Amino acid sequence: MPAAVPVLSVVVPMYDEEDVLPIFFERMHPLLDSLGISYEVVAVDDGSRDATATLLTETVKTWPQLRLVRLLRNSGHQAALSAGFRRARGEYLVSIDADLQDPPEVIAELLAAARDQDVDVVYGVRSDRSSDTWAKRTTARMYYRLMCRLVGREIPFDAGDFRLVSRRVVDAVNALPEDGRVFRLVIPWLGFPSTAIRYVRAERAAGVTKYTLRKRLGLAFDSVTAFSAAPLRLATWLGLLGGLVSCAVVVGALVIKLAGRSIPGWTSTVLAVAVIGAIQLLCLGLLGEYVARLFQSSQKRPQFLVGYDSLEDPGHHTYAEALESSDPEQR
Ligand code: UDP
Ligand code: MG
Repeated sequence: MPAAVPVLSVVVPMYDEEDVLPIFFERMHPLLDSLGISYEVVAVDDGSRDATATLLTETVKTWPQLRLVRLLRNSGHQAALSAGFRRARGEYLVSIDADLQDPPEVIAELLAAARDQDVDVVYGVRSDRSSDTWAKRTTARMYYRLMCRLVGREIPFDAGDFRLVSRRVVDAVNALPEDGRVFRLVIPWLGFPSTAIRYVRAERAAGVTKYTLRKRLGLAFDSVTAFSAAPLRLATWLGLLGGLVSCAVVVGALVIKLAGRSIPGWTSTVLAVAVIGAIQLLCLGLLGEYVARLFQSSQKRPQFLVGYDSLEDPGHHTYAEALESSDPEQR
């Protein structure tokens, strides 16, 4: 069964990537072979609904280093990465997108940097984002600014999820108890010695983005709540501000009343109620978010469920066959 531990594990999360996979294999296979080291490609199929699983199981037959790990359902990019981190066996681990936006040729540079400079993390940093849309560049910039502030550590600007980490880092990440981890924050936060390699981010080779606005917002939200109590503090400040405003309103109302110029204070009442109500709701909402996080992590539900790993299936039955097989002895 499993051969000796490979030097390099390449973790590739993929969700509905049938369009890009043939190009991906064509470019990745010769490239990794040419590195002259033992490797495995851990393709984490994040519950794809298209032909991704079929393409993978077909290719596993002709590319023994390719390994298919299939999650039972779509769990999201970061969860798929978590699954890859758990399952990968290599001394070094490179995470890369399936859409060839991160040039696989850079993997050799990442590896060389890690070995020459004896560091545990090598970030791939985008030196040019001109292939991204204006809206995406702007939101990305805002995201990194905010994150540097919240995490309170140097986060490599414009570094995504294309990076190399050593086994030490993989083990440290796997040992973290938290769910919903955001790799691009957790890894700088761990603080292992690191360096960065610049590369030009290409356009998606085929297919469309699998990161919907909803998933993007979810990532931003996870990033903030996972690393910082700042929103809670914001709630406190807003609450204080609201308190001051309502004090001023009360004093003002009293002054007007004492001056005998009091008119039925409909406007001020409504204003005060609205302002205070809004602030209270906001604070409650923020508290609720953290309570919800506590609740979720106290449930200890698995973040992903692995349905299939080709490493445990030496005959390379396809995933579909394994599911269809009603013979319990074959399962
Ligand atoms: N991805 C995933 N699960 C998801 C969404 C995305 O595994 O729910 C994978 C996707 O297949 C790709 C990587 O995450 O390999 C990055 O996604 P994408 O290229 O669509 O994002 P973008 O580059 O547009 O930010
Ligand atoms: Mg992409």
